[in-house]
Amino acid sequence: MPHESGQLYVVSAPSGAGKTSLVSALLKDMDHIGVSVSHTTRTMRPGEEDGVNYHFVDEPAFQAMIDRGEFFEHAWVFDRHYGTSRPAVAARLAEGEDVILEIDWQGARQIREQRPATRSIFILPPSFNALRTRLSGRGQDDDATIARRMKDAVSEMSHFNEYDYVVINDDFEVALAELKSIIQGERCRSERVQLRHSALLEDLLSHMPPVE
Ligand code: 5GP
Repeated sequence: MPHESGQLYVVSAPSGAGKTSLVSALLKDMDHIGVSVSHTTRTMRPGEEDGVNYHFVDEPAFQAMIDRGEFFEHAWVFDRHYGTSRPAVAARLAEGEDVILEIDWQGARQIREQRPATRSIFILPPSFNALRTRLSGRGQDDDATIARRMKDAVSEMSHFNEYDYVVINDDFEVALAELKSIIQGERCRSERVQLRHSALLEDLLSHMPPVE
């Protein structure tokens, strides 16, 4: 991907930390940034839409994508397959769009190995009780599923220190402002400005008087 100029982000969180709501609010407030729609073999939940929340595929279709090398990363999460399509992400980065991957810690590791310039953000809940309330409050899962999700949540959170940034989602607006400031800060990094504003920089520096 030699000409790409978008920045790639990985955002991970335990289930119930508010990651999806924060990312959607971020996308409403900022331009030139989008989220990658993953493929999964899990079943669709009420209110979800194929091609919007996920590309819902069956196991043979997912395996075929693995065999064709179409995944940027893929992992087994909550007893189901999840993966990020490589061509879809590459095309958006090449157009200069920043892309967010909402994926788990296993996927984050695979992405970091392939692209060390990726910035990763981990979202934490403000307390264990808040996490439990949020997971129970969905009303979509039975007790055993909630207990399993709590265990998985702790396991996911144990990887927070592999990430560049950590945002604690206590007050939603504060967490959102922190997320935005991370993206804005990254956009001001020298190497990113050089990529996006090469013509401006060339023009500014071309007016240097010749040294005698
Ligand atoms: P859910 O099924 O609740 O939407 O997501 C369950 C978990 O799967 C979340 O931790 C989410 O980050 C993770 N996940 C979603 N899409 C992907 C993906 O494409 N790759 C990986 N590795 N994890 C994903």
